[in-house]
Amino acid sequence: MRTDDLLMCNHSAGYFDHIQDSLIGKDHCVLCAEPVDVKKKDSRKVETFGFEDRLQEVCFARGYDDWAMEVQGRLESCIDLPAEVAVYHSSCHARFCCCQSKARHVVVGRPVKTTAQQALDRLCGHLETYCDNNEMYTLDGLRTVMMEWGYRDQDAYGTRSIKNKLKERYGEHM
Ligand SMILES: [Zn+2]
Repeated sequence: MRTDDLLMCNHSAGYFDHIQDSLIGKDHCVLCAEPVDVKKKDSRKVETFGFEDRLQEVCFARGYDDWAMEVQGRLESCIDLPAEVAVYHSSCHARFCCCQSKARHVVVGRPVKTTAQQALDRLCGHLETYCDNNEMYTLDGLRTVMMEWGYRDQDAYGTRSIKNKLKERYGEHM
């Protein structure tokens, strides 16, 4: 019967959804559950068993807040991380371990440019143009440059974010 077929399909679809939810996807960040592009510098593979213990410690340190609970749920759903070949964003790891809030990654193909991102893009353009002069900038200095362009304080990234964003873009060559 048609209806039975339909029910069976629905059932199996739901079943696989459930399985997917309970496992860490091979290409999704353990921490934020968003896709990890392994070609990007920001991507990391979980290679040590200590990683999971460390995350558990951080969950405790975070006082089991929303993000910690989410991560813990994912950790509990797999037996050992390296065997699952789990991946994560190094930026998420840094944020998670520093008790910061979760960052949203820009989804490829649908770039969301915030004012802060626009300011940063302009800053990078500026750096790429003037870098040859061997001018040295401090992070505060970079922020001041953005302020001089008329960006408001709350519209620009903080110095720590600027540092991370620049690292993401230029690697260690700074
Ligand atoms: Zn992530």
